[in-house]
Parts: sequence; structure tokens; C-alpha cells
Amino acid sequence: MTTKRTFTMLKPDSVEKGNIGIILEKITASGFRIAAMKLTQMTKADAEEFYAIHKERPFFADLVSYMTRGPIVAAVLEKENAVEDFRTLIGATNPVEAAEGTIRNMYATSISENAVHGSDSDENAAIESAFHFSGREMF
Ligand code: UDP
Ligand code: MG
Repeated sequence: MTTKRTFTMLKPDSVEKGNIGIILEKITASGFRIAAMKLTQMTKADAEEFYAIHKERPFFADLVSYMTRGPIVAAVLEKENAVEDFRTLIGATNPVEAAEGTIRNMYATSISENAVHGSDSDENAAIESAFHFSGREMF
């Protein structure tokens, strides 16, 4: 058994559409425990740092603008095999390719505005959790 924690964001489109509750329900019903959670808004500098790996990509400026346009729900989630199982639950980056019943299949608008973030490795889960939460905010 591998990782126990991953990091997620319900992105601005999910908050705007009123989908916080229904997405959190799907996450907890899938066996994830909420270890940390808050409504927050990323600054331009925050988003540029969080997504630094994508800074040379053509979609980078649009991604930063999208992720900073309104509040997000940031959360740390706990479950056996958390990183991999959460990536399975959210589905492919492009909702057109996301499996039936996945969060992106159900709630994403496009490959850009795709409803949720999920860490892609244990290492990034730890980095991303620490980016948004102090030790005393994680339970
Ligand atoms: N993204 C985009 N256009 C693309 C690919 C990605 O706007 O062609 C955005 C999208 O919001 C995605 C984020 O950039 O979730 C990070 O991309 P990544 O390839 O890491 O996808 P993810 O890990 O979120 O599935
Ligand atoms: Mg990614």
C-alpha cells in the first residue's frame, strides 16, 4: 500500500457553478477523509508558482488567469493509495476523454476549465499541501 494523502483544489468554475457540495459528497463517498480544507483565492504569484512546471506551455497565461479569477476550495485528502485513486476519481484532464462517472466527466467545462485538481505524485502532494496549509491546519 502506498500513499495516504493527496492534495486537491475545486477550481473557480466549480465554485462559480455551485458544485462544491456535490463534488465533496462524491469525494467523501469514495472513501477519502478530509484532512484539511478551506475556501481561498490564489494570487497571480501563487498560481505562477503552483503551476511553474507549465510556464513554457501555450496555455500558461490562461491557466493563471482562470485559477485566480475567483475562490477555490483547497483540501488535503487521506485514503490508502490516495494519489492514484484520486486521479482515477477525477478522470482525464480533458473531460471529453474522462471516463463516465468521473468528476471531470460530470462537472468540467473544457480541458482548461476542468473542475478539479489532483496531485500527480506523493512528492507533489506534499509540496502542494504545504503550499496551501500550515502544519496546524492539517488534521
Ligand atoms: N490545461 C489547459 N490546457 C491544456 C492542458 C492543461 O488549460 O492543454 C490546464 C488544465 O486546467 C489542467 C492544468 O492546466 O488541469 C494542468 O495541466 P496538467 O497537464 O498537469 O493536467 P492535470 O494534471 O490537471 O490533469
Ligand atoms: Mg498535473
